[in-house]
Amino acid sequence: MLVVMKNDATEVQVQAVIREIESLGYRGIPMPGTQRTAVCIIDNTGPVDDSRLLVMEGVKETIRVTKPYKLVSRETHPQSTVIAIGDIKIGGGKPVVMAGPCAVESEEQALTIAHLVKKCGAQVFRGGAFKPRTSPYSFQGLGEEGLKILDKVRKETGLLIVTEATDHINIEVVDQYTDIIQIGARNMQNYSLLRQAGHASKPVLLKRSFAATIDELLMSAEYIMSEGNTQVILCERGIRTFSDNMRNTLDLSAIPSIKEVSHLPIIVDPSHAAGKRDYVIPLSKGAMAVGADGLLVEVHHDPPHALSDGMQSLYPEQFGELMEEIESLTR
Ligand code: PEP
Ligand code: MN
Repeated sequence: MLVVMKNDATEVQVQAVIREIESLGYRGIPMPGTQRTAVCIIDNTGPVDDSRLLVMEGVKETIRVTKPYKLVSRETHPQSTVIAIGDIKIGGGKPVVMAGPCAVESEEQALTIAHLVKKCGAQVFRGGAFKPRTSPYSFQGLGEEGLKILDKVRKETGLLIVTEATDHINIEVVDQYTDIIQIGARNMQNYSLLRQAGHASKPVLLKRSFAATIDELLMSAEYIMSEGNTQVILCERGIRTFSDNMRNTLDLSAIPSIKEVSHLPIIVDPSHAAGKRDYVIPLSKGAMAVGADGLLVEVHHDPPHALSDGMQSLYPEQFGELMEEIESLTR
């Protein structure tokens, strides 16, 4: 349920409503809007009796939220959320491109690729230091050493950093070094990790699992938001279907569907959907056409020798071409 405050409601009245909600055994989360503040009731498992709330000073009305996710829902927060990190705005109308290798392999590799993607116009550098690999024998990432390299990339290039936390333990150190914490497809329903991400100091990039419905993705975002971190960016990266022409099937329909029901920004990762670099540019153009707020793209200066996901990593020239295509589409 949403308790909508009057336009001229005071902060004291909002706080009184939150205390009343707590006395009913729930939590009240203030959702400031451009016109007025609303307080979203969470933690209830059934309908809430609003009789005591409706008579409080400053309260205009109550609205039942019909979705199982509350804080993520557009019913609770009608304006689209814009996540501002430094000068960059995710969800602000201009697509944000996050690019870099699948994994940080060495300082030289990361810096080389970072300078290349920056020159082409990327705003955020991606690169995994903790890698969730299907095989335990594959390269698992450089761990904290990789995070230190990413820190150097930020200092040398001015690019923001997005890197993955793979469990509720390494998320603490990832939070210290990164600008955006990535939660990977395999961890979309790792609830202890999601809860920890809800206490992190940085925005979270939550990737859709290859086996999740849109409601499941949004419920996972709700886990993060319900712990207090409202800075969540969603990411569609392809789902598993009977179609076997690509590594995954990029569900572009997820973008308008999610935008209808949620205020959170959503970006597209064409690389993990494609599995093959030649499909990345057309899928990226599709993502822009359906209204994605940005892209997460794998780029490597020497893809045949990449330690992970080389087949789907763009050559720098291809990335340059992609950026030009995006620029002309969104001009
Ligand atoms: C990645 O971004 O390199 C990654 C592992 O992605 P996903 O979690 O979508 O498989
Ligand atoms: Mn990858």
